[in-house]
Parts: sequence; C-alpha cells; structure tokens
Amino acid sequence: MKYKRILLKLSGESLAGEKENGYDEKILLSFAKQIKQLHSKGVQVAIVIGGGNLFRGLSGTDAGIDRATGDTMGMLATIMNGLALQNFIESQGVPTRVMTSISMEEVAEPYIRRRAIRHLEKGRIVIFSGGTGMPYFTTDSGGAIRSIEIHADILAKGTKVDGIYDKDPMKYEDAKKYDEISYEEAIVKNLKVMDATALSLCRENKMPIIVFDATKEGNMLKLVEGYKIGTIVK
Ligand code: UDP
Repeated sequence: MKYKRILLKLSGESLAGEKENGYDEKILLSFAKQIKQLHSKGVQVAIVIGGGNLFRGLSGTDAGIDRATGDTMGMLATIMNGLALQNFIESQGVPTRVMTSISMEEVAEPYIRRRAIRHLEKGRIVIFSGGTGMPYFTTDSGGAIRSIEIHADILAKGTKVDGIYDKDPMKYEDAKKYDEISYEEAIVKNLKVMDATALSLCRENKMPIIVFDATKEGNMLKLVEGYKIGTIVK
C-alpha cells in the first residue's frame, strides 16, 4: 500500500447522491463498502465529513440567521452525517468511532488527538465530525487540520468529479483535467479544489492532497494502492 494512514474528506453533498439534500442509501453503502476494503488491507482511515446536504451557514444567512449561528447549525449537521456514516460502516462489520469537535459526550467522543491516533492504530475507522468546531471555517479546513494533526500520509478529498479541471467540466466540454498541480496554482487560479485556508494549511505543512471521484466504486482502494487517479496537489 502506498498510503498507510489516510484522511478521507467526504462532502455532505456527496451523501445526497442525485438528490438535492438528505441521504442516498446507495452512496452511503458504496462509501461503507469501499472503506471496508481499505480496512481489510490494513489501511488506517480517518474521515472528515461535511454537512452541505443538510445545512450550510450561508444558507442560514439568506433566511436571516446570523452567520455564526448558522455555521454552528452547519457543524451540528456534520455530526448528524457522522452518525449516519458510522451506521453504514458498522453494518459492514467494521469498528468505528465518531469524534466531535463540539462536546456532545452522550452522542460521541470528544476529539482528543492522541486518542484518535490510538483508535486508528487499533484498526478503528475514526469519523471526525463538527468540522473545526469554529464558525467561519469549512470542513475542508477541518480535513486539512486533522490530516496534519494525525500525521496522515495523504488528504484524500472525495468528490463527484474525477479531479481538478481548469474550468467547470459540467459546463465546458473543453475543460482540461490536471494530473498534478501546485498549491500555489490551485490558490491563485481559485480552482475550487478547496478553500484557500485549507490549501494554505496543507502547503505550510506539506500535506499532499488527492482530489478524486469517491462515488466510483473501487476508487478509494486504487488511491491507496498508488494508482494515478484524480489530481494530486503538492
Ligand atoms: N462549518 C463551520 N465550521 C467548520 C466546519 C463547518 O462553521 O469548521 C459549518 C459551515 O456553516 C458549513 C457547514 O458547517 O457551511 C457544513 O460544512 P461544509 O460546507 O464544509 O460541508 P460540505 O461542503 O463538505 O458538505
């Protein structure tokens, strides 16, 4: 295995599949099966889950909710997603722990870095929910921070698209895919890989990022085996 410990960032949006929000059982099951494959190969997997399928702070401000309050609601949404994902991964017989960056001890463990690493060493899939625990951040930034904290080999950002393009491949037929791109280029060209905060954190700490299509079954395994899929940012 090329990568022995990975931080998998899954967007909330991806959990909705073709729907606009909520959950698509097929996607959750596909993620769970792919994660089981990684687990069976002995890969240590930590996951940061987003919340966009349920709530985003910015959609709250549209409805007159203060941004910081809306962001807190968004963070709670990521915890709901964490529990949903846990449910599906455990249905595959794989042990998991959900950790939250907002204390909610009746529901899940508080995030303690050293404890998270211990879980990984014991072969548990660790799901980090609650983002960074702070408003005005994103779960991509949460993913960047956690990947660095747990010394992951790679930050694998699973999306619905198979990598980073110079323009939106859904809109433009001549959009070109990058196999590799530097942090600088991704930031300067504003390529919508991740927000600039997340990218800067990765650049400063030399955390490589692979953006790949997580909805294609088998892709997670290919990624850790070192096949060239998606786009690498380094
Ligand atoms: N959020 C936040 N701080 C964080 C992470 C998330 O305030 O550290 C809030 C923010 O409102 C965000 C929402 O939670 O819009 C859902 O997270 P995100 O949009 O990153 O989810 P994704 O796009 O991955 O589904």
